[in-house]
Amino acid sequence: MPTESTDYRQMWSDLGLDLEAHDALLEVLGQGYQAVFLSQQNRPKGMEYFDFVMSEVHGLRVKELLDEKAAGRKVFGSFCVFVPEEIVKAADGTLVGLCTGADFAMDAVEEYLPRNTCALIKSAFGFKLGKVCPYIESVDLIIGENTCDGKKKAYETLDTIVPNLYVMDLPQVKNARGRELLKVEYMRFLRKVEELSGVTIDVARMKQGIARVNAKRAALHRLAALRAVAPAPISGLDALLINQVSFYDDTERFTQSVNAICDELDARVAAGEGVSPKGTPRILMSGCPMAVPNWKLPWVIESAGGVIVGEESCVGERGMRGLVSDEGETLEELISNIVDRYFDIDCAIFTPNTDRLGHVREMHESYAADGVIHYSLNFCQPYQMESYPVAQALQNEGVPVLRIETDYSPEDAEQLKTRVEAFLEMIQ
Ligand code: SF4
Ligand code: SF4
Repeated sequence: MPTESTDYRQMWSDLGLDLEAHDALLEVLGQGYQAVFLSQQNRPKGMEYFDFVMSEVHGLRVKELLDEKAAGRKVFGSFCVFVPEEIVKAADGTLVGLCTGADFAMDAVEEYLPRNTCALIKSAFGFKLGKVCPYIESVDLIIGENTCDGKKKAYETLDTIVPNLYVMDLPQVKNARGRELLKVEYMRFLRKVEELSGVTIDVARMKQGIARVNAKRAALHRLAALRAVAPAPISGLDALLINQVSFYDDTERFTQSVNAICDELDARVAAGEGVSPKGTPRILMSGCPMAVPNWKLPWVIESAGGVIVGEESCVGERGMRGLVSDEGETLEELISNIVDRYFDIDCAIFTPNTDRLGHVREMHESYAADGVIHYSLNFCQPYQMESYPVAQALQNEGVPVLRIETDYSPEDAEQLKTRVEAFLEMIQ
């Protein structure tokens, strides 16, 4: 994982990072990456590209973003898949995800946030307060969104710590009023992007933004479809990593690299080759998003002898499902198309959120999964609350479900392993 090269120290220092703390973070992440990813057997060769991206995620990629800025283009950072990348691209900007997958500077974080806040929100604060995230220090605009109560209230506090926070309002109910609110907010966001970038977004630019993001999603759809085959041609860990990298990498280079690995996986499928033997229990993960470097549960599942074949998650299928239509002659029509695609995201902050259960069922069937592992972060009320009805409905239909609640600390790894092993044994 992140580079140990000293070439970037001046860049990190200029960004205001705490170099000592940052070194410590890179060392831990490097060891974790080695143990979780590089120790896997029979990885596709195409993973070398994603290993390289991860090795340079705090180095070369950050330098590229700073070069973009020096050339006059803007960089935006977000925490949620409701932020429409198409609009950012239409203004020649770059959208990156902001790290929320590891604990850092927890003592400082708990001065600002209650202890019983989910690890994902705490992580965003920890990376900022601990001065270890080159992305949050590089972006021109941090985009928050009113989704769960935890995030909504945390952004009020984050606004006192950072100078460049913009908060997008989001609907909580899927009706005509909710759709209208999303459209109004996407228009407001478009104006903000125009104001910041100095670019006027016209129909041609918007269509180009839509096409670029559609190409990226189509490549990820291709990867997802390949995982439906038995034996699975790629591990769940590697597929998760590709989805995680989608939030950081250059769009076109990423799209090309995903298509290249899919060509390789096509050949594996044609030859009947997989990463694990036939009969390996196939698991569908469902629940909270897993941001870099949150790899604990997938690692537990795959090292216990299962293979993850899909993620019903925002870092996975919930976040990448569907494409945006480019039909339309006005900006208003194109924004409507964007709303159509994003309004279908079945995040647990919506009430009711019945589509999600339908999607879990559909994925369980189409990926030929043997069981579902529902993952929620401790203190995440939306997904914890939904885990009960989702699990009940699936179990009533004969689908085995294991509900896991955890956080980012490694302390429960052994206990999780015991539970996962028992579940895999039961469904085998
Ligand atoms: S789970 Fe909901 S709030 Fe979180 S990234 Fe997904 S859509 Fe956004
Ligand atoms: S939806 Fe859950 S995991 Fe996501 S930020 Fe809110 S509490 Fe945390």
